[in-house]
Amino acid sequence: MSGTIIDGKKHAIDLRRRIKIATNNLKSKYGITPGLAVVLVGNDPASEIYVRNKGIQTKEAGMESLEFRLAEDSSEDDLLKKVEVLNNDSAVNGILVQFPVPKHMSQQKIIETILPLKDVDGLHPVNAGYLASGLKGMVPCTPQGAAILIKETLGELSGLHAVIVGRSNLVGKPIAQLLLKENCTVTICHSRTKDLKETCLSADILVAAVGIPELIKEDWVKPGATIIDVGINRLDAPEKGPGKTKLVGDVDYNGAIKNASSITPVPGGVGPMTIACLLLNTLIATCAQNNIEFSDLGF
Ligand code: NAP
Repeated sequence: MSGTIIDGKKHAIDLRRRIKIATNNLKSKYGITPGLAVVLVGNDPASEIYVRNKGIQTKEAGMESLEFRLAEDSSEDDLLKKVEVLNNDSAVNGILVQFPVPKHMSQQKIIETILPLKDVDGLHPVNAGYLASGLKGMVPCTPQGAAILIKETLGELSGLHAVIVGRSNLVGKPIAQLLLKENCTVTICHSRTKDLKETCLSADILVAAVGIPELIKEDWVKPGATIIDVGINRLDAPEKGPGKTKLVGDVDYNGAIKNASSITPVPGGVGPMTIACLLLNTLIATCAQNNIEFSDLGF
């Protein structure tokens, strides 16, 4: 058996197309253009690329993209004040502070300063609480993207056994909550889990969010399982030339695909869904802030 590849780029393009139509409906029906503010502290090259891509895709979706830069040596207070200004700006519907921030700043303090209604990263404890309670709120982007790929691949998920490897607040826990909401039976694994291989082997849906290159092997995969690889690991690739690198996931893709019914590649799987879900959250936040029913936008 060889599994089919879940093409995250294709799913993300389709999601962004639908978001653009809904954004145009919001403008024509209510005269409102969603605004997404991204704050970048310092000049980390990877963060620069993420922020640039976010800006491009925000504008392509018909939204207003606002970019703010603070110097690497800005104080935490400078950043918190900037967030407060954006909290009070009615043209800003979503706020994203690009992580990681410099070490002298508290990521948690920043997350908790963003208004929950503008928290399009879905990381504020209020939004985490809504998700854990099965209530409406902002859902973190990468988990949301992973859950959409699973739904669009499998359809009805009720009763399936989902095994999530990784329990971070950013990825593992929110994915577990989303799959629980879909009536999966969910097992969460982490660094202290015993019999990780056996647990993975019992999964109908196996989600890897660990950060260890190719941890999940071919013989950890139940025949016919769906595999979602959230991991992004950059490794040296001398075979591609001196100083070259490559991205690999947390799953041994070439081995696992032999047993899986479907699998996400790295890159090109979950990754592209993240920005699409950020735009979706911005649209949802704009509706919530203006007392507009999201379903009114024909999404
Ligand atoms: P994280 O905060 O470092 O969490 C890693 C999780 O893996 C922890 O829960 C840890 O367990 C668990 N773990 C570590 N070693 C393990 C082992 N040997 N066996 C089983 N579990 C183990 O990482 P994260 O932020 O969740 O990110 C996970 C991966 O997703 C990373 O590769 C990251 O780059 C990627 N990622 C991708 C996107 C995207 O696609 N856009 C977004 C975010 C993250 P403990 O809790 O016990 O320590």
